[in-house]
Amino acid sequence: MSLKDTITKNFNEINEDIKKYSPYPEKVKIVGATKYLDKYKLEDYFYSGAKIIGENRVQSLREKKEHFDNLDISKKIEWHFIGSLQKNKLKYFIDYINLIHSVDRLSIAEAIDKEAKKRNKIINCLLEINISKEKSKHGFFIEDLYENINKLKSLNNLNIIGLMTMAPFTKDKEIILNVFKNLKTLKDELNNTHFNGELTELSMGMSNDYKLALSQGATMIRIGSKLFN
Ligand SMILES: *Cc1c(COP(=O)(O)O)cnc(C)c1O
Repeated sequence: MSLKDTITKNFNEINEDIKKYSPYPEKVKIVGATKYLDKYKLEDYFYSGAKIIGENRVQSLREKKEHFDNLDISKKIEWHFIGSLQKNKLKYFIDYINLIHSVDRLSIAEAIDKEAKKRNKIINCLLEINISKEKSKHGFFIEDLYENINKLKSLNNLNIIGLMTMAPFTKDKEIILNVFKNLKTLKDELNNTHFNGELTELSMGMSNDYKLALSQGATMIRIGSKLFN
């Protein structure tokens, strides 16, 4: 099977799962975690009907964006950043990025706000939350988030539209399910206390756990291996 056919088949399967597991399938978007594809293979992803590219390294995002600009297909896709962020790299994608999933600390939020202001842009963002408090993971602990929330909200060129998390590496479904459940609860709580219902997105779930994430209300699932193999 060609890569394009493989991806098309996988899209169909995942879309069936979305209908089966999500309480609101029409709200769910598939974010391709495209770190596995070089810029040429990424064309197959695009031509299989993909709508969103999610990259976790700035360098490869740039390369792929330039490649798509040359093919004149860049504007037909949404560009998302899902990896860990460094301040000095923001300038390379701030002009075209549609959503940053991984705002994991106040200082990076302030840096995005500053870069966005220079360009008179508003950048859509998700706050990354470290629900499981693993040392190896990025993101705000819930307590720290509440300490920083007013500062985050005061950044006018940052449009916070939801939350993101990574589930822990474990086979225990109960643990994973609870992480997703807690992110959903946090979103609902923040909507009541600080955001007046403006948080609409929950980016959670990857190849191994997206069904669990869907059952807990994920609106964006970030899928790599399950899509491309
Ligand atoms: C790679 C990656 C994914 C997808 O991982 P798979 O298990 O291959 O689906 C999701 N989110 C982030 C941040 C990633 O880097």
